[in-house]
Amino acid sequence: MKVFKFGGASVKDAEAVRNVGEILKAYTDQKLLVVISAMGKTTNGLEAVLEAYYNKAENTQDLFNKVKKQHFDCLRALFKDEQHPAFAELNDTFVEIDWILEDEPQESYNYLYDQLVSMGEFASTRILSSWLKEIGINHTWLDVRDCIKTDNKYREATVDWVETETEIKKRIPKLLDKGLVLTQGFLGCTSENFTTTLGREGSDYTAAIFAHCLDAEEVNVWKDVPAILTADPKRVPDAKALPQISYYEAIEMTWYGASVIHPKTIKPLFAKGIPLRVRSFVDQGLPGTVINDEETTSLPPILIVKEDQLLISLYTKDFSFFQESNISLAYQMLEKHSMKANLIQNAAVSLSIVVDHKPRRVGNLLTDLEQEFSVLTNSNLELITIRHYDMETVAKYIDNREAVLSQQSRQTIQTLVLRTSFI
Ligand code: ASP
Ligand code: MG
Repeated sequence: MKVFKFGGASVKDAEAVRNVGEILKAYTDQKLLVVISAMGKTTNGLEAVLEAYYNKAENTQDLFNKVKKQHFDCLRALFKDEQHPAFAELNDTFVEIDWILEDEPQESYNYLYDQLVSMGEFASTRILSSWLKEIGINHTWLDVRDCIKTDNKYREATVDWVETETEIKKRIPKLLDKGLVLTQGFLGCTSENFTTTLGREGSDYTAAIFAHCLDAEEVNVWKDVPAILTADPKRVPDAKALPQISYYEAIEMTWYGASVIHPKTIKPLFAKGIPLRVRSFVDQGLPGTVINDEETTSLPPILIVKEDQLLISLYTKDFSFFQESNISLAYQMLEKHSMKANLIQNAAVSLSIVVDHKPRRVGNLLTDLEQEFSVLTNSNLELITIRHYDMETVAKYIDNREAVLSQQSRQTIQTLVLRTSFI
């Protein structure tokens, strides 16, 4: 069997949904599980709804109406008749958000996030399911929460592999015998049946979890880019496609912030030697990039830019050395707030930590750090990483920028720079 994952861009509107239908038509004789993300920028839209709701802002309903409109516009373009059952089904999905918004926020932000934002994936899979029915593709719509079991760390839930594998093995093979299985990415479920999410962009990970538990032949991640490229083509127009990379290279690239696939995706595939193909939903003839266990010998320089970085500088309050116990404490606080250090550097009485500038999480983290250390921050920074760097690329992308912090190893060079100009 195979697992396909279609991201937000591949289901962003009616035309995109039709295109997914066309692609799937060619695979109806195969055992296929299809994982779908929320449409287009829906997750960002629902995050904005939640933020407004939590802050009791007046525009909460307007923001929600905007998300709803995009979905109903898509349905109207797919089905001329508004009596089509797809409309009532989508309405039922969004009613769950109405119920949340009716009351004042009582629960924790992260819990509410997962209950509300998860509706994006339910909406997109409902729409696609209606469309597949319309074009005669036999399939089962699966509530992924029946399969992916997690702890209750809302927004960053950890998969309970034993439970998950049991449920997947129990439910999916018999469904695959009947036709294609369509389900939601990004979501999971606690033992108390509350919805969780696996971290932003987590649908790739969902595909990998299913593939691992079902011993899939391969995973295909369908994207709006032709392959994994040596740089973001918006920054580097002549970025080259990489035909193949090893699991090791892929995990390194995602660690440094390459947005090609979710960082957690590789490990479950590596464990079973399952290849992952990143390929274009625009031009299906293109070979894309295969990630597998073949060592990649010579790779060209790969440029990865992480935008909107925050440098947090911690100082001991009494001028004592910043040693192991302080470092350990700082890391515990990062872990508590689900923040990752993108770069870290130790000096005599200080520690520099570079993190993604996510306002709510950073605010909570800084409050904790300030209890223990003197804290300074610098914002408006970019972290530039070049894997397999050479003199030419370093000269082109790093040397002309104002560096704040740098690190270099045999394979990788990283520099934190002021965000003065776009490269
Ligand atoms: N819809 C979720 C997000 O945008 C999950 C995903 O796209 O993979 O983060
Ligand atoms: Mg996405």
